[in-house]
Amino acid sequence: MFATLSDRLADTFKHLRGKGKLSEADIDATAREIRIALLEADVALPVVKEFVAAVKERARGEEVSGALNPAQQVVKIVNEELVTILGGETRRLRYAKTGPTVIMLAGLQGAGKTTLAAKLALWLKDQDKTPVLVAADLQRPNAVQQLQVNGERVGVPVFAPAPGNGVGDPVAVAREAIEHAKRTLHDVVIIDTAGRLGVDAELMKQAADIRDAVQPDEVLFVVDAMIGQDAVTTAQLFLDGVGYDGVVLTKLDGDARGGAALSIASITGKPVMFASAGEKMTDFDLFHPDRMASRILD
Ligand code: GDP
Repeated sequence: MFATLSDRLADTFKHLRGKGKLSEADIDATAREIRIALLEADVALPVVKEFVAAVKERARGEEVSGALNPAQQVVKIVNEELVTILGGETRRLRYAKTGPTVIMLAGLQGAGKTTLAAKLALWLKDQDKTPVLVAADLQRPNAVQQLQVNGERVGVPVFAPAPGNGVGDPVAVAREAIEHAKRTLHDVVIIDTAGRLGVDAELMKQAADIRDAVQPDEVLFVVDAMIGQDAVTTAQLFLDGVGYDGVVLTKLDGDARGGAALSIASITGKPVMFASAGEKMTDFDLFHPDRMASRILD
């Protein structure tokens, strides 16, 4: 087990008595501990550096007050900075003013998109929405069927190309799905798109073509929280190639400390909106920056 940042800082400050500003030596020692804690949480190095610099700056100006000991005070600063970068308040979905709200999912194969699509559909259904799932991942042989199985589990219809029609055109499927949703009065359309194991130009273009064709209200980048350092590169490539409004972290039930969340939010400036944490369809919730901050620190 790693020591928590609070424990580390309590140790760093145990010599410190009395009040006044923290000394430069104390601030340096603090910075070192924060750096180690963030690296252990798998936060990307450039993000760690920027973060530590910001905390140092704030710590310099702080008076050591009576209410909190120096360690608690630094933990408070770190926590506040983490929450700010992670998006502050939870960012809510933006619904279309007229017609169905279109949500498009993008991300690498295996990120958990298909599972997430069904979880999101269930979550929306519980809020009295009438979602429809769209199988626009026509690349992976079982993707359509997997979405159909998941759709059935959550009681949400799936719009998919008729079987036996060859590979099919995902852009056309997405477009038709929206017309279908309008006709059948579904108010949210969730489009599952193809992902490959590695980022490739063809995949990016396909996702960008779907985006251009359907003009989604929200594009969500779905990313496996376990991928740690790689999250930054992938997140940036999808941002440049497809663009997105928010991030969904999956597999948070694993032992990842959540560093990917901080790295992605910091580098892309996009809010993490949802957290998916398990194989059950109900293992899904809005992302709470404050809870993630504690997870990164503890
Ligand atoms: P896709 O290729 O992006 O559509 O990914 P899938 O939805 O097929 O998920 C890939 C694998 O990860 C499957 O075995 C899922 O059961 C699993 N998975 C998805 N989300 C989660 C999650 O939140 N926690 C865990 N433990 N496994 C997940």
